[in-house]
Amino acid sequence: MTALLEIDVAAIAANWRQLAAMHTGETAAVVKADAYGLGAAQIAPALARAGCKTFFVAHLEEAVALRPLLPEARFFALNGLVPRAAADFVAHDVVPVLGSLRELLLWRAEARGLGRKLPAILHVETGLNRLAFPPMDLARLRDDPALLEGLNVEYVMAHLANAEMPNHPMNAAQRAALVEIAKSFPGAKLSLANSSGMFLGAEYGFDLTRPGAALYGLNPTPSRSKNPMRDPVRLSAPILQIREISAGESVGYNCSWTATRRTRVATIGVGYADGLLRTLSSNSTARFDDTPIPLIGRVSMDLATFDVTDVTANPGDLLRLLGPGQDADALARQAGTIGYEILTSLGRRYTRRYIGL
Ligand SMILES: *Cc1c(COP(=O)(O)O)cnc(C)c1O
Repeated sequence: MTALLEIDVAAIAANWRQLAAMHTGETAAVVKADAYGLGAAQIAPALARAGCKTFFVAHLEEAVALRPLLPEARFFALNGLVPRAAADFVAHDVVPVLGSLRELLLWRAEARGLGRKLPAILHVETGLNRLAFPPMDLARLRDDPALLEGLNVEYVMAHLANAEMPNHPMNAAQRAALVEIAKSFPGAKLSLANSSGMFLGAEYGFDLTRPGAALYGLNPTPSRSKNPMRDPVRLSAPILQIREISAGESVGYNCSWTATRRTRVATIGVGYADGLLRTLSSNSTARFDDTPIPLIGRVSMDLATFDVTDVTANPGDLLRLLGPGQDADALARQAGTIGYEILTSLGRRYTRRYIGL
């Protein structure tokens, strides 16, 4: 009686192929946070079979877990290098995305110790102000090329702050900043675009694109109406019980929803502990067949309640929480968040079924 989370791996691979066809450069895949909650161990090998050779994770550990499945793949770890980790990066053949002089010196020291060159990818600051080489560090690199001895700078990368807003002036500014900075690293390839960045035009593609969200079906062009990607996620939960209540009776914690008519209340075993965010309380719908069914009352830890008065639902029947008619982006709008958070919040208690493996 647990809810069923179906993930169409073939659709994710098709999304990767569609994205890869958009630009002449290489297309990587971002599989951080367990491939946005959908299962990196299943998805990354499928992407490799589709032709993907380069994978971005956030943490070294995420790449270490995938390395046995993908012995040939190139892994970049976006969160960079911390002291004492360099040997582990080398041991598992993972390249840290370097975002400061401090990290670069740690990586260079490792190369020296090994007596061979190590590949490097430099993340340079162009406006996000999180993890990237600040201009002062870049100036030092420019003025003192010896700092790069022992390192082979293969890529200079930047990350867009407003890629999903095609008219935002910062996109072109960040692109120009990256091109300017890269002049100091002759021979290095460039990487800029995430999913939405890939839809800003050919000039944003450069040598390596880094899509994540669009692979998993989130709309990379939210300012246009139609999502160009395939949605690989279906989530449905069986009705545990149905009860009939009278007008004036309330449902759930804090009596936040009160019936105004005779109401049939269906309870499912999915709650906020499973990623059905509590902000969806009385503010969301599921589907019964294709009819929208309102979520009523508070979402609790393990349960949620729906008004099924107007449909002929019975215990054991399935309510669809994600799928046709309601994708992760739509659920996110109801919850006041973004589809990324809906996917990465998907719980561990679902029965997971992978399709098209
Ligand atoms: C997460 C991330 C991506 C992927 O972004 P999407 O919007 O999911 O395509 C690309 N680059 C960096 C640096 C990231 O952190």
